[in-house]
Amino acid sequence: MRRMFVAGNWKMNTLARSAVELAGALARAVPARLPKVDVAVCPPFPYLSAVGGTIARSGVELGAQNAWHEKPGAFTGEVAVEMLVDLGCRWVILGHSERRLIFGESDELVSRKTEAALAGGLDVILCVGETFEQRQAGRTEAVLDSQMQGSLAGIDSRAVGKVVIAYEPVWAIGTGVTATTEQAQSAHLYLRTWLSRCYNPDVAAATRILYGGSVKPQNAQLLLEQPDVDGALVGGASLKAEDFLPIVRAAEAVRKG
Ligand code: PEP
Repeated sequence: MRRMFVAGNWKMNTLARSAVELAGALARAVPARLPKVDVAVCPPFPYLSAVGGTIARSGVELGAQNAWHEKPGAFTGEVAVEMLVDLGCRWVILGHSERRLIFGESDELVSRKTEAALAGGLDVILCVGETFEQRQAGRTEAVLDSQMQGSLAGIDSRAVGKVVIAYEPVWAIGTGVTATTEQAQSAHLYLRTWLSRCYNPDVAAATRILYGGSVKPQNAQLLLEQPDVDGALVGGASLKAEDFLPIVRAAEAVRKG
């Protein structure tokens, strides 16, 4: 059975004090590893250290929202994988649609980052997902195909064991519009079938595929109950403990199989 996974992407939000307060509330509510759900938070870079200290010895793990793929050196403004490991990160989000669309990150760059992150000891939350126009044009599966192919180029079947896929339809991110359970399940099944075809059935069965896009306490349960939805990557609702924790509890309550 795949363990459920709920990760909070704080994006460019919080200040030092609110980051530590939020992390403290989560650490108190999740003092130890939960029986069925892994929980992680991905604060902005400047607060990784303080948040990491606050959640140490709790059941909440630390992740970053991005990384650069080169070894430490002359890359002004960038953050190396080994710095994130040094700060206690287990996870890094790569290929988020905001990175792809606002900062022009290509599949090729995402694949280099994925390779570097895995080689450096991080586990990767790899985001894929189509825009509204691509869905309207019937291109959802083609887009997922090329993002998976491009972003995982060079990642073999052993290394991919440290990758969690996040299906995040761009039209559902931060919009309040959530994919229907049918849309989510259908995309997740497509991604699992892709993993089976391009790696093997064992990889497909073991890989966790999270849904992301306006997940809230009110819609989490139905989404998480879908057979191929193994958790959630949560943006807006991860910024308040009273919104994030019910999503974690919904994941804990889901019964499958
Ligand atoms: C995200 O950015 O990963 C995300 C899912 O955001 P939101 O939950 O706010 O839609």
